[in-house]
Amino acid sequence: MTTLPAILGGTPLRNQSFPPRRTMGAEERAAVLAVLDSDCLSGFIGAAGVGFLGGPQVRAFEAAWAERYGFRHAISVNSWTSGLVAALGAVGVGPGDEVICSPYTMSASATCALFWGAVPVFADIDPVTFCLDPVAVAAKISPRTRAIVAVHLFGHPADMDGLLAVARPRGIAVVEDAAQAPGASYHGQPVGAIGACGGFSLNYHKHIHTGEGGVLVAEDDEVAKRLQLIRNHGENLPGEWPGDGSSYCSFGGNYRLTELQAAIGLAQLQRLDGLLAHRERLAAHLSARLAAHPGIIPPVVAADCTSAWYVYPIRYEAEVVGLSRSLFMRAVNAELPAPRDFEATPLVAGYVRPLYLNRIYQERRAFAHSHFPFDLAPTVRYDQGLCPVAERMYERELLLCPLVREPLTIQDVDDFASAVERVLTHAPLIRERLGDG
Ligand SMILES: *Cc1c(COP(=O)(O)O)cnc(C)c1O
Repeated sequence: MTTLPAILGGTPLRNQSFPPRRTMGAEERAAVLAVLDSDCLSGFIGAAGVGFLGGPQVRAFEAAWAERYGFRHAISVNSWTSGLVAALGAVGVGPGDEVICSPYTMSASATCALFWGAVPVFADIDPVTFCLDPVAVAAKISPRTRAIVAVHLFGHPADMDGLLAVARPRGIAVVEDAAQAPGASYHGQPVGAIGACGGFSLNYHKHIHTGEGGVLVAEDDEVAKRLQLIRNHGENLPGEWPGDGSSYCSFGGNYRLTELQAAIGLAQLQRLDGLLAHRERLAAHLSARLAAHPGIIPPVVAADCTSAWYVYPIRYEAEVVGLSRSLFMRAVNAELPAPRDFEATPLVAGYVRPLYLNRIYQERRAFAHSHFPFDLAPTVRYDQGLCPVAERMYERELLLCPLVREPLTIQDVDDFASAVERVLTHAPLIRERLGDG
C-alpha cells in the first residue's frame, strides 16, 4: 500500500520549511558603518564638476563592476527601472518611435519606452528560452522602430546574434534588460553590453542587491556619457561635459545611487560568483532528477550560454500528466512546507500576464487625460492573441520553481523533486478524486 499524496489527505513529504535567503553579512555591515562615519551619504551634485559622477563609493562600485566583467563603462542608478529609462534615452528613443519589447517580463521592460513618448510594440517569445524570438521581432519592424529591449528572462540569455542580425543593418539599437541575469554569458561574453547598452537590477529580490538599485553597462563612450547625463540632471550641463567640451542635449532625472548603497553593492559583488555557482549546481541537479518524467520539461540552456538561474522554469504538459497545471501545482506544494513568500514557494504558475493585456495598453492611456503616445501609433495592436506563445506559457504551460537559490541544498532540491515524483505517480488517483481541479 503506497502512502497517499498530501492533497488527498496523506502525510506531506516534508514539514521543515525551506530556509530564507540571508543576504547581508559582516562585510556589508562594516561597509555601511564606514560610510556613516564618513558622514557623506551621497557625493552627487547635479551640476558640472567632480561631484557630477558621484562620490567615492559610487565610483569604486562602478569601477569594480566594470572590471569584474570587462565592461568599458558601468554606471550605477537608483533602480533598474531608472536604468531602463536612461538606456532608451541614451540610444535616442523619442516621441512617436516604436520600441519592440517582450510581453513576458516585468512591466518596466516596456514602460521605459512610454517614458520617452515611444510606444511598446510587443513581439512573441521563443517557447524554449522564453526570451524574444528574433523571427517574431523581424515581423514587427517598421520605419519607426528605434530600439529593441532584449530581456534575459529567468537568467537565460536572449538570442543576441539573432536580434542583432535583425537590428544592426537597420540602425536599430538593442538594449539588454539583464535584471535577472547578472553574470550570465552568451557565446563567451557576459550579457549586458553586447547590444548598445543594458544592465542589472539591484532590488532586494535579485541575485545581489542594495535594497533598491541598478547598474548600467556600455562599451561605447558616447552612450555612457548620455547615460550619465540622464542619471543626473543633464540639463544643468549646458553645452559642456566635465573635462572635454563635447556637447549633448538631454534633460535628466535624479537616478542616483547613494554612497551607502554603493558600499553595500561593493560587498555584494564579491558574493556573486559564489551565488551563481551554487544556483548552477542546484539547477543541474534538479534537471537531472526531472529529466525522465513525461510532461515535465526542464529548462534548456542554449549552446555556449550560461544561465544565472534567477528562477528555474519548467514547461508543464497537462495532457501528458493528466492533471491541470493548477491542480498539479497545488498537489506538489501540498507535499512541502507552507511558504512564507515567493522565494519559498515550490511551484508558481504562469509568471506574468502578457503585458499588452494590462490596462494601460488596453485603454491606450498612460498620461492622465491624454492618449499620447498611443495616438501617434494607431496601427500598433494590443489585442488578446497578439503573442500566442507568451499567452500559452502564462495560461497553461509555465511553472516556476524559485528553490534553486542559496542557502538551499541539494537535499532541499531533492525533496522538491520527490514531491513532483509523488504527485506524478498518483496522478490518476488525484484526477479520479479531485477531477480537473
Ligand atoms: C526586477 C526587474 C526589473 C526592474 O528592476 P528594479 O530594480 O526593480 O527597478 C526590470 N526588468 C526585469 C526583467 C526585472 O526582473
